[in-house]
Parts: sequence; C-alpha cells; structure tokens
Amino acid sequence: MSEALLEVTNLVKHFAVGGGLFGGAPGVVRAVDGVDFSIRRGETLGLVGESGCGKTTTGRCILHLERPTSGRILFEGADLTAMSEQQLRAVRRRIQVIFQDPYSSLNPRMSVGQILAEPIKVHGLVPDKARREERVRELLTQVGLMPRHAERYPHQLSGGQRQRVGVARALAMEPSLIICDEPVSALDVSIQAQIINLLEDLQSRFGLTFLFIAHDLSVVRHISDRVAVMYLGKIVELADRKALYEDPLHPYTRALLSAVPIPDPRLEARREHMVLRGEVPSPLNPPSGCVFHPRCPIAVGRCSAEIPPLREIKPGHWAACHLA
Ligand code: SF4
Repeated sequence: MSEALLEVTNLVKHFAVGGGLFGGAPGVVRAVDGVDFSIRRGETLGLVGESGCGKTTTGRCILHLERPTSGRILFEGADLTAMSEQQLRAVRRRIQVIFQDPYSSLNPRMSVGQILAEPIKVHGLVPDKARREERVRELLTQVGLMPRHAERYPHQLSGGQRQRVGVARALAMEPSLIICDEPVSALDVSIQAQIINLLEDLQSRFGLTFLFIAHDLSVVRHISDRVAVMYLGKIVELADRKALYEDPLHPYTRALLSAVPIPDPRLEARREHMVLRGEVPSPLNPPSGCVFHPRCPIAVGRCSAEIPPLREIKPGHWAACHLA
C-alpha cells in the first residue's frame, strides 16, 4: 500500500447561527463532528451521504475554504490547520476541486482558453504566453475536447463539455489531490459515465488522488477504491468498495444501498428494501446517543443514550453501530 497523501484526524466544523437582531435563538450547527479518514496516493475515496450530512463541508475544510473548528488535516505530511495564509497559498495549488455545477463555476465572460490560461499564469506555472497557449490546447485534448474549444464561451458548450473544462482547470494546476464535489450530479446519466471514465483515465495517467463526494452510492461504486458513508456530521461506515457494497455493516448504509436499483429484475425482486423513516434531523440539535437512532429500524435501548464509536469490525472495515 502506498503512503497516505491526506490524513484527516478528528475534524470538527461548527457554525454559530442566530443570536442577531432577527436571527432567532443562538445555536451551533455541527456540520462536521469528529471525522477521521485518510487517502493513499493514487487512491479514490468515495464520501457519500444525504444532503446536509457534512460531506461538502468536509471537502471545503480540506480546501481551506472553511477554517476547521478543530482537528488536523495532514497533506503530504504537513498540517494545513497550522499553516499561515502564505504557506497555505503555496499548498492550495496542489489541492484542486471540481464542482457540481460547471456552469456557475466558470466565468461566463471569459473564453475557455482564458479560463484555463489565467490560473496557469497567476501561479507562474508557464510564464511564456505562447507556451501557455500550447499548454491550454494540451489540457483540452487531455479532457477529450478539441483545441478549437479554447475560443468558445461557457454558454456555447454542453453540460458535459463544461464539466470537461472544469476538469481541465483542475488539471492545469498539476494537483496531487482533486476533490470532486458531486461532479456528475447535474449531468444526464449517459454523460455521467463519460465524465467518470475520464476521471479514471486521468487518474491512471497522472497518478491523481481523488476524494469523490456524492449523495448516492451508485455514483461512487465504479470509481472508488474505498467508500466512507457520512450521516449528520459523522462517518458511520468506512470500508473497501467490495466489502461495503457486498457486506454493509451499518443500517444506514444498508438503507442507502437498498435505494440503488439493480439492473437484474430477478435480483431486484428478491432483495430487501429498507425505507428510512422521516428526514435527516437538524445538525443544530442532533439526537442523543447514536445520531441515527430516530430513523434506525433496528435501534435498541442503549442507542439513544450511548454514542457508538467508529470501530474496526473486520480488517479495514469500520462501522459506528452498537449492533455491528
Ligand atoms: Fe441503529 Fe443503534 Fe446501530 Fe445506531 S447504534 S445504527 S441506532 S442499531
């Protein structure tokens, strides 16, 4: 196994809310509430959970778009949480992000060529203008576009082409880690597969490492080496892809998996379907004990009183459940 590129230890991000003139009662949103994981070089870790579970905030903390409340984020051996702004600027280039909505993340007034060339220039990666234009053409080809797309504007591209530009923009910085934040959720299903294949291809060509954030388990299945499932600010299960999909240990993972359609109608008819009761509770006032207990179909008495720690139940397979 290769070394860890990223190690996140006891990451916490709380947001203070309310308390202002019209802001209602003061409180604390526990968006990320003690998260631990690591990603090895060249690996893809899928991070999955319903909206509001804290997966995007986790990604934003790693990118330092949010300052963590506490915890440690080691990237290439250096602690991002202990760095000055100046030190962070130097590291940030090597951690890039691909956003969900390529349209809103691309400047509509800039051509694709300008969108790709500008950060290369700002970071001094290719100071010479002619060489920079050549680099832009190379990037476009690497993501399956044509050099002529450099002249186009975002509104002249399809959704899939725009996301390819988003991928090229991340690649332009020669990153070692890319945080893919729901990069295919806004695309048609047929285009989703193309973008996932592109990301896999680029990963093997350039040795990239991905944190792949998604809200459903079907999307991360093909691309992930390991998968972490988040619920209400905590990781509730973490395992190799095969173990997680074939032998899920946490009731929440089992419920998420039961919502993923199986193409074989005979298997689909035979398998167990778990429908979760109610909505995800507010992270402003999370339930006591196991945060999943109000929705858990197998909850027992101690579940509402004792927090289940994330334990290694089988080698490399972690789950936070008293009954696992
Ligand atoms: Fe369900 Fe209890 Fe396990 Fe939580 S600890 S997932 S409530 S059985």
